[in-house]
Amino acid sequence: MAKSGTVQSLVKANDEAARAAAEARPGREEAEAAVRTLIRWAGDDPDREGLVGTPDRVVRSYEEFFAGYGEDPVAMLERTFEETDGYDEMVVLRDIRLESHCEHHMVPIIGKAHVAYLPGKRVVGISKLARVVEVYAKRLQIQEKLTAQVANTIQTVLQPRGVAVVIEAAHQCMTTRGVRKPGVTMVTSRMLGAFREDPRTRQEFLAMVGNPASRAGGD
Ligand SMILES: [Zn+2]
Repeated sequence: MAKSGTVQSLVKANDEAARAAAEARPGREEAEAAVRTLIRWAGDDPDREGLVGTPDRVVRSYEEFFAGYGEDPVAMLERTFEETDGYDEMVVLRDIRLESHCEHHMVPIIGKAHVAYLPGKRVVGISKLARVVEVYAKRLQIQEKLTAQVANTIQTVLQPRGVAVVIEAAHQCMTTRGVRKPGVTMVTSRMLGAFREDPRTRQEFLAMVGNPASRAGGD
């Protein structure tokens, strides 16, 4: 009980923090001026022909990359269905395309997510599971936090018998700069309820998604 309380308060705290930040947002002009500064800092002239429209394009790209701050993943999952004819087996959505940005370098994290849950009384439209991944991905992230947020939110809102989230992704801050290790994939997982407590349930899920952890270890 204490555990699900903690998960719930985490989901709530994250949401409130995101809302507060959204209210203190600078205007578009200020954001474009910041891009001009970065262009100058890189050593180029923001007024030359090829770059003159760039601040506007960058800011519009950021609107897409970070659209997740304006969306509420809890509300997204609240519409559920109870007519399941007693279906109580695992629901697995695998290979959800993941595009996020690392909060340390603001460069892309590209990969895929696998999400599963064991329904209690209610099921949710499967596209909603993918949307929850997308909303959290379209914020500044580290992969560990993203994985936990998706699992915690599904657990809190749907209250299923268990949730499993596995994310495998490549971080461009590792592949294009710094240690420069292309081909490296990071695998994170968050298991709650039956997926955490019952090894057979966990195994069944991992087999369905192709056991990413063992694959990553074997490369
Ligand atoms: Zn990074």
